Amino acid sequence: MTKPRIFVTRLIPQEGLEILKECCHIEVSDHDGVIPRSLLPEKVKDSDGLLVLLTDMIDKEVMIAAGKKLRVISNYAVGYNNIDVVEATKRGIMVTNTPGVLTETTADLAWALLMSIARRIVEGDKLVRAGKFRGWEPMLLLGTDIYEATLGLIGFGRIGQAVARRATGFNLKVIYYDKEPVSPNIEKELKVSCVNLDELLRKSDFISVHVPLTEETFHLIGQEELNMMKKESYLINTARGPIIDEKALVKALKDGVIRGAALDVFENEPAIEQELMALDNVVIVPHIGSASYRTRTKMAIMAAKNLISALKG
Ligand code: NAD
Repeated sequence: MTKPRIFVTRLIPQEGLEILKECCHIEVSDHDGVIPRSLLPEKVKDSDGLLVLLTDMIDKEVMIAAGKKLRVISNYAVGYNNIDVVEATKRGIMVTNTPGVLTETTADLAWALLMSIARRIVEGDKLVRAGKFRGWEPMLLLGTDIYEATLGLIGFGRIGQAVARRATGFNLKVIYYDKEPVSPNIEKELKVSCVNLDELLRKSDFISVHVPLTEETFHLIGQEELNMMKKESYLINTARGPIIDEKALVKALKDGVIRGAALDVFENEPAIEQELMALDNVVIVPHIGSASYRTRTKMAIMAAKNLISALKG
């Protein structure tokens, strides 16, 4: 029996590829970086399965190009806004993702960003490297206390809850907004309370975003929402860029509407607003939420196993 053909759009950790190799004929893209859109249809041709990344836009055209054999698209990510799931479902193609395995790692990064922006770590690093450190100074790089502040979580699923769990040691008050509130038992266990979005925006000192990108959450945070935030507050985004209106955020940061922001994701990745890059009150990292050795390996294993299970039906 001929082995199913799997196309992998970019090199992923070997552990995942080994699992696939046991039962499939795999081809891994040798392109340096994201495969250009124009080359993707040719690459996916005659595939039974695709293992793709969130940087690959998998729409109707790609599905047609893959051909009638295509049965599964395995996304190497928990978010799947890069795939036209409605179209895939119409065609009987299963779409899988990697929930759970990257929860703790992404929650760690949300905290790393929160602490970096609150205590001006990146600004401090730049100052020292520029040879401007003159010894202890009473007014140098004053930041914001995290201890006993109010943390607002927009989206209280796996990652939102993992962020809340880490808040205990800081004695933070944690409030959250989610369209599907968790049970009173979980709220009690995590010492959190559910509020509406307006209340969260008005009361929080730190706001961290953890909803998926959907039609409903596109520009969930725009100028109006930023204006509701406290002047001394910070916005952290490790979810998806387009959930925040990036232009409105730049304006808010420049005008002192909020004190700062820390971002792992951007509205038009990999492009970033030039004005954002020029600001000191923002920490910017290149979409590394799940980027730990252990988690990326776990994601590769899960994406490979998902793909094989789907092929086996
Ligand atoms: P999840 O599904 O467990 O949680 C998402 C929560 O958002 C759910 O509780 C859901 O009810 C809520 N929600 C959805 N739509 C909403 C809306 N319109 N209004 C209010 N609440 C809404 O997902 P998760 O595992 O916690 O991941 C969250 C997102 O984080 C993913 O979709 C992904 O885009 C992003 N993510 C980014 C990285 C990164 O590298 N930066 C890594 C992992 C996940």
